[in-house]
Amino acid sequence: MMRFAYQKPESVAQAAAVLEADPAAQIIAGGTNLVDLMKYDVTRPGTIIDITGLDLKTIAVDETGALQLGALATNAETAYHPEVQAGWPLLASAILAGASPQLRNAATNGGNILQRTRCYYFYDRAEPCNKRRPGSGCGALEGVNRMHAILGESPDCIAVHPSDMAVALAALDAEVSVEGPSGKRRIAFADFHRLPGDRPEADNTMERGEIVTGISVPANPFGPHQTYLKLRDRLSYAFALVSVAAAMRIEEGSIAQLRVALGGVAHKPWRRKEVEAQFVGRPANRDTFTAFAAALLEGATGHGQNDFKLELAPRAIVRALEQACAGTPQDQACKVVL
Ligand code: SF4
Repeated sequence: MMRFAYQKPESVAQAAAVLEADPAAQIIAGGTNLVDLMKYDVTRPGTIIDITGLDLKTIAVDETGALQLGALATNAETAYHPEVQAGWPLLASAILAGASPQLRNAATNGGNILQRTRCYYFYDRAEPCNKRRPGSGCGALEGVNRMHAILGESPDCIAVHPSDMAVALAALDAEVSVEGPSGKRRIAFADFHRLPGDRPEADNTMERGEIVTGISVPANPFGPHQTYLKLRDRLSYAFALVSVAAAMRIEEGSIAQLRVALGGVAHKPWRRKEVEAQFVGRPANRDTFTAFAAALLEGATGHGQNDFKLELAPRAIVRALEQACAGTPQDQACKVVL
């Protein structure tokens, strides 16, 4: 049996103080990832800090037109909220592409972006894994790596981030609000998750004692020209092999603004703003989208079992861009293959 202490703080400051003081403390909200990690004995929290009583459940549009999401609003509440569906359909679609209805009812927005990789070796304590046990090696590098990264990986870790929601948030230039011992700060979404480098155990750039309190998503001008495409082994419920969050603004047949983030290919949502900028002014057609895909994937490498992603990813990008260009809704709630 795994023994742990349990605390239910009444404020973010209280929760942050416990988290900072106790290196073995961990936050729980929906518990959809932490409980799995505990069952597999990947993590053993000394203290569980239950933050479900905190007032972090907002879903609202503020006076600037930005969407403000509380860290404790559930994924289901967020995806089905009428304001989110109307103004941020890419985000709603990405959330609905993830997990199952039961999980989305329990999982929170904060927990979604903080969820840990689903690399098989990370969950198997008999195997080497630098993310779980730094310095032990990477079992996936020469092993079962069908789900793994083709971009931004390091010799120490080739894991991918599993969140769909995070891919949309990256494309939509979101910001993450955190609060900790040094006060409150906002982190640009592009800077929130890390590439593994030589410290794969660190998934993100939060400091010890900091807690995610919310996510802010600016208003966007993309109208119907935004889509989330997720390719996976099972349509019913699976993590992405490759996913694409695509949004564009089109003026007289040319690209006026372009945003593309990829999931299932790197340790964080993969986005390159400098590549997007190069394609502004180009005709919004398949030739341009194909060239864009090649530029965005420059430097991609396979590790054996995931070599197929080198071909799948550019096709997915082109298809997503064509969908976004045509304003074709991608209904993730419909599991029928059309
Ligand atoms: Fe661990 Fe990363 Fe290697 Fe997976 S890819 S075994 S998470 S170090």
